[in-house]
Amino acid sequence: MIRLTEINKTYPGAVPLHVLKGINLHVERGELVSIMGASGSGKSTLLNILGILDNYDSGEYLLDGTLIKDLSENKGAEYRNRMIGFVFQSFNLINYKNAVENVALPLFYQGVSRRKRNMLAMEQLEKMGLADRAHHLPGELSGGQKQRVAIARAMITNPSIILADEPTGALDSSTSRDVMALFRQLNRQEGKTIVIVTHDPGVGRQCDRVIRISDGLIIPDESIKTDN
Ligand code: ADP
Ligand code: MG
Repeated sequence: MIRLTEINKTYPGAVPLHVLKGINLHVERGELVSIMGASGSGKSTLLNILGILDNYDSGEYLLDGTLIKDLSENKGAEYRNRMIGFVFQSFNLINYKNAVENVALPLFYQGVSRRKRNMLAMEQLEKMGLADRAHHLPGELSGGQKQRVAIARAMITNPSIILADEPTGALDSSTSRDVMALFRQLNRQEGKTIVIVTHDPGVGRQCDRVIRISDGLIIPDESIKTDN
């Protein structure tokens, strides 16, 4: 589903920063994986490349067999909207829109009628156990509820892949477990391929596989074993 070969990325500047130094990574369809590594190791950069939010300098990114490289903004947006849902640490909900409007928003950009998108958004919220919160603003929801609304928004376009950047970073440990249970459910029951960037070893343990990144390189599994 996701195949990266020798991906390099440098942020230009007075002192250019070589952040990804030859990333090789393969995630199969239907996997639930986490990416762990120290702050500044390049996790978000990597996730942004996976999500076609950012470009890379050299190497190859195949997404479901399609080469993702130097795409026009339109092509990039088309693949992204068709394939990928995003979840962020800080939820990124729109504060003056209620839960159902937030969830429905990606469908607005796809030109779906208001009636249809609100109906589909309501269905997603019901699946997330949030039907009774549908008409509340984000400010009236708990952290865990906000993140479930954000996950519903990520799911509304029926993407094959969900990319989450520190999705439990702003949540307490019991709420984190609830959010992870939801990711596991979407993975097991709906077959979503899910990649979760995290600092939290507890989150890593709830995934099928932990990919470790250090200083812009993936640490091979072997060396993880010898370290233990
Ligand atoms: P992580 O998510 O693992 O903490 P990031 O991928 O966010 O790491 O960042 C890796 C390095 O790249 C950091 O040193 C960060 O300061 C730098 N960086 C991130 N984004 C940019 C950017 N847009 N321009 C310049 N440097 C950046
Ligand atoms: Mg980050």
